[in-house]
Amino acid sequence: MSRTDDNWLLRVRNLTKIYGEPNENTLNMTGPLFNSNICPETDAIVACADISFDLYPGEVLGIVGESGSGKSTVVRLLYFDMEKTAGSAFLKPYNSGLANILEESNQKKRFIRNHLMGMVYQNPRDGLNFRFSSGGNIAEKLIMAGNMNVGQIRGRASELLEKTEVPVQRMDDRPSSFSGGMQQRVQISKAIANNPPLLFLDEVTTGLDVSVQAKVLDLIRELQQDLGIAMIVVSHDLSVIRMLTDRTIVLKDGRIVESGLTDQILQDPQHEYSQLLVSSLL
Ligand code: ADP
Ligand code: MG
Repeated sequence: MSRTDDNWLLRVRNLTKIYGEPNENTLNMTGPLFNSNICPETDAIVACADISFDLYPGEVLGIVGESGSGKSTVVRLLYFDMEKTAGSAFLKPYNSGLANILEESNQKKRFIRNHLMGMVYQNPRDGLNFRFSSGGNIAEKLIMAGNMNVGQIRGRASELLEKTEVPVQRMDDRPSSFSGGMQQRVQISKAIANNPPLLFLDEVTTGLDVSVQAKVLDLIRELQQDLGIAMIVVSHDLSVIRMLTDRTIVLKDGRIVESGLTDQILQDPQHEYSQLLVSSLL
């Protein structure tokens, strides 16, 4: 599925995260063939290994797989929430895509995170500070990217809340007084506050009621079309992947077992495991 053109936004190569102490056999004794991500010799856990893909500007990539397959690990590594074991990631708008962002200083990682990326977590408490108001949460993100006065911040915060369909008069209320769906909308507002070219969404509708899920997914789709932002959408739920994504990576036991156009994978899954996922959708 690799494209030859050079206009990628994010390029990921051999991204690997191992917990515990691996030995020289760990990578060869784990993965889909072994139905396990645990090394039988050392008990090291291969959360993900050898993950490579390119993401293009404005494209939506899905990462699907059952619980524990390594989906969150991939996006959390890319968002610098955790340290990689091995691999590289390049982001075109940063240093012309020449630097492995996973090996930059913490200061530079903060810059990249504040200006070039957004993250929406499954649990709103991971993405929002519940001691701040909803507007305060957005303000925090705006301030971290610098150069705004109080008036501008309030203006931008209300614009963002409006865009994500949160009643603007609730700007000074804390997220704890909001419904789950509304908390996710505030998280999305915060994540896109600085107009990043890249947004990660990790199981963002998983905890919500079905009717609320549908509305939040609609919002994400509208924002994507409106802003042209590239997204990596992580979900165990193929119906979410079907609704939002152009291309999909299927993960099992920390490895990519299949990748391709989402429509193609849904119509004609090649790998046994993808076939299982798709059959459960019908
Ligand atoms: P997913 O998001 O697909 O459910 P994760 O990326 O959260 O999967 O986890 C991948 C694997 O890594 C799982 O087997 C999980 O148990 C393991 N894992 C995640 N975090 C840790 C940790 N801090 N220590 C040890 N193993 C972990
Ligand atoms: Mg997860």
